[in-house]
Amino acid sequence: MSRAGLAALDARDPLAALREQFVLPAGVIYLDGNSLGAMPRAAAERVRRTLDREWSQDLIRSWNSAGWVDLPQTVGNKIGRLIGARDGETVAADSTSVNLFKLLAAACRLRPQRRVIVCDCDDFPTDLYIAEGLAALLGDHIELRRVRADELDAAIDDDVAVVSLSHVNYRSGAMHDMARITALAHRRGALMLWDLAHSAGAVPLQLADCDVDLAIGCGYKYLNGGPGAPAFLYVAQRLHDRLATPISGWFGHAQPFAFEARYQAAPGITRMLAGTPAVLSMVALDAALDVSLAAALDQVRAKSMTMCDAFIELVEREVDGHGFTLASPRDGARRGSQVSFRHEQAWPIMQALIAHGVIGDFRAPDILRFGFTPLYLRYADVGEAVRILGELMRGGQWRADAYRTRSTVT
Ligand SMILES: *Cc1c(COP(=O)(O)O)cnc(C)c1O
Repeated sequence: MSRAGLAALDARDPLAALREQFVLPAGVIYLDGNSLGAMPRAAAERVRRTLDREWSQDLIRSWNSAGWVDLPQTVGNKIGRLIGARDGETVAADSTSVNLFKLLAAACRLRPQRRVIVCDCDDFPTDLYIAEGLAALLGDHIELRRVRADELDAAIDDDVAVVSLSHVNYRSGAMHDMARITALAHRRGALMLWDLAHSAGAVPLQLADCDVDLAIGCGYKYLNGGPGAPAFLYVAQRLHDRLATPISGWFGHAQPFAFEARYQAAPGITRMLAGTPAVLSMVALDAALDVSLAAALDQVRAKSMTMCDAFIELVEREVDGHGFTLASPRDGARRGSQVSFRHEQAWPIMQALIAHGVIGDFRAPDILRFGFTPLYLRYADVGEAVRILGELMRGGQWRADAYRTRSTVT
């Protein structure tokens, strides 16, 4: 993979024009779209319109006239198209953490005879914390079974109410086989819940075809909805009538504006809503999704795999002997849209990279993580990022004291 080879890939990249739809700072190669996606121009314009017209001028009338009240469903359906859900199976709401709590609790209630939640011990901590909190709330009834990915088959037995897994591991980028594990959970009578935080918008997903029961995911990663964007949740249609949310708020009521004293769940996925949607964040996400929907997801995936393969090849060549080891699957089919390397000095090296315009991130204890968003990255960026890494390693600039201090957010 040479500089000329990368330029040739850019020249015939069918997604190249989409980069123009994002605001990207000059002099930055942004390899952290898996943590906070870049800002689509349309999202900024939409927020401005919402402020200048809908909120300031139309005021409360905008709940109806601008469709604010339907945003959880309209935005949810757009996400649904990116994850292979049917219309009416996805809503945008709350945070990923809160949505996980709602769906795990609802899943346990659907399997009252079963006592176990199976999860991956290497999963994103919030997923484990939420399951822990739910188990504590439910007293002795629910037990958390934390297993490694290779122990899943044995761990899913007749006691399991729900299997809760991240589709793509946040640290390594390793991707589970959604169809196989979902079928396995079903054979053992368990429900299957997927966290799509690191796959939605980056990897083609077929939730309906895989017969997935439940799913959640983030709006601010590959969906580019902005900091703290609403998350989403998906529930298979066949479960809608039976699923009960533990946060039975008025937005999930059958008739919120009847102001009845007793809760009665709304039909369909709407029952999983809790309270008033965050409109400003929701409109940003709504506009951002149009950019993702304009791209063919199989082209996004193909570009992501080529970029990640090129990155691995170039890093291993450029900084051979400098202590980096690949922490992601080498086989692109088993990897999400990120590449991680282990290094004993991962923190200062990443700080030096960021200071030199290559933004990735660090995940404790020793991971340098690089996310690849095909909507706004060029193949040439991959080459340039590795060239800068090589310079820093050979020159030793990463050893400077300034790169040793830890910040709150890594
Ligand atoms: C990013 C991420 C989250 C984030 O949850 P929030 O509630 O949005 O903070 C949750 N789970 C996984 C797997 C993630 O990667």
